[in-house]
Amino acid sequence: MSQSQRVPVLMYHRVGEAQNAWEARYAISADGFAAHMRALAAAGYRPVEIDAFVAWLEGGAALPEGAFLLTFDDGFQGVREHALPVLEALRWPFTVFLLSDLIGGEDVWTRKSNPSGQTYPLLNAEEIRDMQGRGCSFQSHTRSHASLPTLDDAALADQLAGSRQALAELLGHAVDYIAYPFGHLDERVVAATRAAGYRAAFATQPGFNRRDVDRYRIRRLDVFGTDTPAMLLRKMRFGSNDGSLAQAIRYFLERLRSRLPGGGGA
Ligand SMILES: [Zn+2]
Repeated sequence: MSQSQRVPVLMYHRVGEAQNAWEARYAISADGFAAHMRALAAAGYRPVEIDAFVAWLEGGAALPEGAFLLTFDDGFQGVREHALPVLEALRWPFTVFLLSDLIGGEDVWTRKSNPSGQTYPLLNAEEIRDMQGRGCSFQSHTRSHASLPTLDDAALADQLAGSRQALAELLGHAVDYIAYPFGHLDERVVAATRAAGYRAAFATQPGFNRRDVDRYRIRRLDVFGTDTPAMLLRKMRFGSNDGSLAQAIRYFLERLRSRLPGGGGA
């Protein structure tokens, strides 16, 4: 049944304490993150390497039962401090999308949206090099977290190819994957991403990925810091950002209705 295989991609951001309600969407506490990973493991989920995931999309071998992809956007130091020990103990691979102009910097693009204006440290070059070979694959999140559809052609190409080249030099290997900042994309951004040499690109539209998904619009489930382990498992099960019990009930009612005579099948 490999044709019908549906693979979720989880998207985390910062791991560490949230100081306000806005941050609680993008930051999960160290204990909360560990509880998420324990719940996934107990439910039979196992992350795969990003190369295996993309190879599957490109027609390669089916992935094991329970396969998913674990990603972190932005490259916060908290991922190294709090998530790396948990993931190393489990021997679970994961991917971090980095901003090549902000290595060793802070998440300055959040200043306008975070009510407190607080910013948080991003991984520096030494930390990044150390994490390579410890289960972490580093990929691109552009140079500076610009909203790509707003850029002119030259600036767009610079964000895409410039980050790819700078990160390849830092990491010592080709950088083949990218996550669009804010999940913002359009036809022109997708064409430019392909032209810059990326093999696949990650969006923020929720849902599962089947093999026929557009490889430049890979879907991801947004994990919020406020998600309990039960909510996370419902997101994984239903391919939705809504991990509430009400969403699960709606899903089952919809399935039931579609099986009744006169129900909207398909
Ligand atoms: Zn980001």
